[in-house]
Amino acid sequence: MNIKIGFGYDVHRLEVGEKLVLGGIHVLSDKGAIGHSDADVLIHAICDALLGAANLGDIGQQFPDTDQQYFKIDSTVLLKKVVGLLDQQSFSIGNIDSTICLQQPKIALQIPKMKSKLAEVMQIPESDVSIKATTTEKLGFVGEGKGISAYAVVMIHRSGC
Ligand SMILES: [Zn+2]
Repeated sequence: MNIKIGFGYDVHRLEVGEKLVLGGIHVLSDKGAIGHSDADVLIHAICDALLGAANLGDIGQQFPDTDQQYFKIDSTVLLKKVVGLLDQQSFSIGNIDSTICLQQPKIALQIPKMKSKLAEVMQIPESDVSIKATTTEKLGFVGEGKGISAYAVVMIHRSGC
């Protein structure tokens, strides 16, 4: 079977005064995400989906947060490394679908920028990168503004197939 699917999920805590980086771009927000890296929840979910599809473990195994080289790292660098790992296994990305769960701010207008950034990093057409956003109707940790989460599914295939 030369077509594989993968799924990824990630969560980060939100705190006042932190930067919010989503899909490789800086989003203006009262609250930002906390993490060892730049805490880009969307990229982390996509990395986990890609690694899962290729059965290469997860982002925590590939880039341990105990390793200082990943401290405050730009997550687009991690995504590029993940695409490289897949490439070593002759896997190419088919398409990605993702959802960001965030109560506020509204990010719909920034999604096209995220798509083009991620497509550029992964060297795939923008039309193969879907990013959606939803609130959780003020329910749970996302709705209460305590955190942000993201889900991603990907399809990959062996190059040439
Ligand atoms: Zn993360």
